Amino acid sequence: MELQDKITTLKGVGPKKAEAFARLGVDTVEDLIFTFPRIYENRKQIVPIADLREGEDALFEGEVSLITTGGFYRKRGSRVLKMLITDDTGSIEVVFFNAAYLAKTIHMGDRLAFYGKPSFNRDHLQVIHPEFEKAETVQTGILPIYPLTSGITQREMRRLQKLISPLYGEVESILSDETVKRNNLCGMEYAIKNVHFPEERQSYNEAKYRLVFDEFMTLETGLMASKMREDDYEKGTRFEDDGCENAFIEALPYSLTNAQRRCVKEIMADLTSERPMNRLIQGDVGSGKTALAQIAMYKAVRSGYQAVMMAPTEILARQHYEGLKSDFAAYGINTGFLSGSMKASEKRQVLQGLEDGTIQVLIGTHAVIQPEVEFRNLGLVITDEQHRFGVSQRIKLKDKGDRANVLVMTATPIPRTLAVVLYGDMDVSVIDEMPPGRVPVITKRASGAAERERCYEFVERQIREGHQIYVVTPLIDESEAMDARSAKQVYEELSKRFRRTEMIHGGMKQAEKDEIMAGFSAGEIDVLVATVVIEVGINVPNATVMVIENAERFGLAQLHQLRGRVGRGKAQSYCFLIIEGQSELAEKRGEIMEKSSDGFYIAEEDLKLRGPGEIFGTRQHGLPDMRIADMVKHMNVLNAARDEAKALLEEDPHLLRPENQPLKRRVTKLFGEDLSLNL
Ligand code: ADP
Ligand code: MG
Repeated sequence: MELQDKITTLKGVGPKKAEAFARLGVDTVEDLIFTFPRIYENRKQIVPIADLREGEDALFEGEVSLITTGGFYRKRGSRVLKMLITDDTGSIEVVFFNAAYLAKTIHMGDRLAFYGKPSFNRDHLQVIHPEFEKAETVQTGILPIYPLTSGITQREMRRLQKLISPLYGEVESILSDETVKRNNLCGMEYAIKNVHFPEERQSYNEAKYRLVFDEFMTLETGLMASKMREDDYEKGTRFEDDGCENAFIEALPYSLTNAQRRCVKEIMADLTSERPMNRLIQGDVGSGKTALAQIAMYKAVRSGYQAVMMAPTEILARQHYEGLKSDFAAYGINTGFLSGSMKASEKRQVLQGLEDGTIQVLIGTHAVIQPEVEFRNLGLVITDEQHRFGVSQRIKLKDKGDRANVLVMTATPIPRTLAVVLYGDMDVSVIDEMPPGRVPVITKRASGAAERERCYEFVERQIREGHQIYVVTPLIDESEAMDARSAKQVYEELSKRFRRTEMIHGGMKQAEKDEIMAGFSAGEIDVLVATVVIEVGINVPNATVMVIENAERFGLAQLHQLRGRVGRGKAQSYCFLIIEGQSELAEKRGEIMEKSSDGFYIAEEDLKLRGPGEIFGTRQHGLPDMRIADMVKHMNVLNAARDEAKALLEEDPHLLRPENQPLKRRVTKLFGEDLSLNL
């Protein structure tokens, strides 16, 4: 057995299991070693059955003193298997739904161990779907709980970890001895062993620190290397400092806000200097980021270059395209569009236009970073809603040009501390002011049938006044797994009530989606039932109500983004959060939404409410996934790793020294082979 062996070489892992493991990103034995537990359970003691308490997870064991497989469970129509488990102190009922097959493997008199949470069924305690195994093999102690996917069980994961544990010592350290010493880190074998099978708190803490440090070190080395690559370009693409953009700005249908003016100034200073621009525009939804992109693109074309803007969804890309095409046409600028769903012949034509330079501005989805897309002389690349893209996509887009200027835009507000880490390699401009005349959206929570009905009565009145409505649901279709309204269900309900109702969701064909969006923009549709495809960027100023069904299913960042679809015109807009069931977290979120429309405030509150979670997760910001490190929780480790990475790159900028090869390999793996990180 070796680290690079496929996991199929392990006993009990066939092709089917391998497929399941692939979903967890596990291909080799080494990958499995780096699949760390999510959490741990304390199973240090076996609890006497008489001492089991409602709601408290516990390990218990006993003899199977009764098995019944009769009865159908009413609600799901599935078979129920019940067992009575007895020890010296008492008995408890154990229940499995839809698992009559277990009756073949479990027999009266078997001694089994269970782990689960007792709950009350009328007058007696029972445990539903506990983990179980033979009492003689049960392990006590701190038990690791691994991330799973269907087809893999906890027990299997633990068995495999035990099986491969002799290889823990062969995992190479990505850090040199010197770095390990300087940062008081423990050894690699010790770290891996104590994260999978911790014996006590202290050894676990040391182990975790080491692994978190390794991950941050990899991340920071990669980020710094890409930043250094940027600095290597002494000269960027320099645009003419002739003020030609002023006439364009004057001709806009509105005058820029002060914040927009300031950003334009910063952008122009970058564009007309020798250094390539590398700037992030951060502005809340509706703050007018598109105008900045437009002005920058105009500038590029006037200086004789091409410009490209990439957006995360086809709907958004098309909307940008429709708007910009006509604006630019007035100046004789030719705008093209590119997306994955286009016909091959159309695509060819666009590619031709980019190569020969007849298309000066390109708007598109991530189709624009495909290898076959080549520009004649690309001088400016823009990423809209940057948090939807990865670092590598951003760099690929940039590499379409030769020293092109880079502008990325995002509405996802992040606290200062994190911005430094995430965008440490970029200059940041903030649009901290809304265009004038915006009336803050009135937000109200609603729950229960009566309040929901009142919301829709309100919707009715708004439609009569000529306004349009979004209704967002968490699901497309009904689902067994989730008890929530689906777009299809809501659509059926509402189309009976409102004549011009349509539905849009991610499962639809592009042409259908386009047609519906166009209809909504043109005011031909009153009610648009949608899934979160509507979340980013869409701009229809006449829409005044956003109804969010099952609002408890959405995070604060998402709610804020969704609400940003309304309140874009002069009329008062409204957002209704329909909350089902009782969830303290959902109510808290609703309260924050009612109170504030400030994206930064909401982000800070979100952080307080649930920690880094989704919104600050690396994925949201397009950084590579971290396995064990957490940007917020481990901020101190992050800082230490950053200092170390910096020192290391100063001594060995291209990681050429033999002792730095393992780190170099890891960095390349994390950021993708195709990125030339200048290492
Ligand atoms: P976002 O920052 O969310 O991308 P957009 O660029 O889509 O925002 O702008 C939202 C709306 O505000 C658009 O209808 C746009 O035309 C309008 N807008 C942008 N800047 C101004 C301004 N200075 N004054 C008035 N309206 C503006
Ligand atoms: Mg936008």
